Amino acid sequence: MAKPNRTDVPRSRERDAAKAARAVKIAEKLLQHYGEAECALTHANVFQLLVATILSAQCTDERVNKVTPALFEKFPTPKSIVDSRPGDIENIIKSTGFFNAKAKNIRGAAKVIMQQFGGEIPRNMEDLLTLPGVARKTANVVLGSGFGIRGGFVVDTHVTRLARRFNITNQDSPEKIEQDLCKLLPDADWIGLGHAMIWHGRRVCSARTPDCEHCPIADLCPSKGLAPDAWKSAKIKNAAASAKRSRLSANSTVGNRLSARGGSPRRVRDRKH
Ligand code: SF4
Repeated sequence: MAKPNRTDVPRSRERDAAKAARAVKIAEKLLQHYGEAECALTHANVFQLLVATILSAQCTDERVNKVTPALFEKFPTPKSIVDSRPGDIENIIKSTGFFNAKAKNIRGAAKVIMQQFGGEIPRNMEDLLTLPGVARKTANVVLGSGFGIRGGFVVDTHVTRLARRFNITNQDSPEKIEQDLCKLLPDADWIGLGHAMIWHGRRVCSARTPDCEHCPIADLCPSKGLAPDAWKSAKIKNAAASAKRSRLSANSTVGNRLSARGGSPRRVRDRKH
């Protein structure tokens, strides 16, 4: 009988220590695989990174990268943004969606940077969170990719989906997912692993068609072979257990048929794979 691999273990039964060890192994493999991963938002300085990250809400990085060259050419500094005329920023960033709210946040952030921080981007979480339009995700991008400071873990839509598929968190809110990731993973990896998870989410473990067959961490992932949306359901552990039962039942049915004919179930399994 084939040795059960760890993905056959129902998610609910995994002990905390085993989960932590598996999380670290996933991190190691992802970092090996996506060692060159970096922030996809084009920027020449931390202020530009801040603005690009505000623009990336509900928008792709590709779209943001199309509008920022014109925006940064016309408004390269916080002061130039504060001095901009109504409509100037909105017209340039229109295609990123929610452009009125985003323009308001960019102007508001530039104003606070000028008035409270002497024109410098704050280098700590507490101060960054005082800027309009900046929540923990944006602040972590600025700290990690802008300053190389490990303030926390960037939790975007890809990281949320992957962390749930990996079953290293069962939380819904980005703040709580970040807490779980920071508890499980070494802080030295937070910045690189955030990029690696986003790349893995874009290239392999996509929302609609995860490519489990070619996934470098498939042997560590309890969602291997499950429906793309299974992670959203509290019943995911049942889905994993049921997938296991189906596999066992299929093998046993084939085995019984072959035994009745005098064949070898082992050889059939070998041929199948
Ligand atoms: S095995 Fe599938 S679900 Fe798991 S990380 Fe890989 S692609 Fe995603």
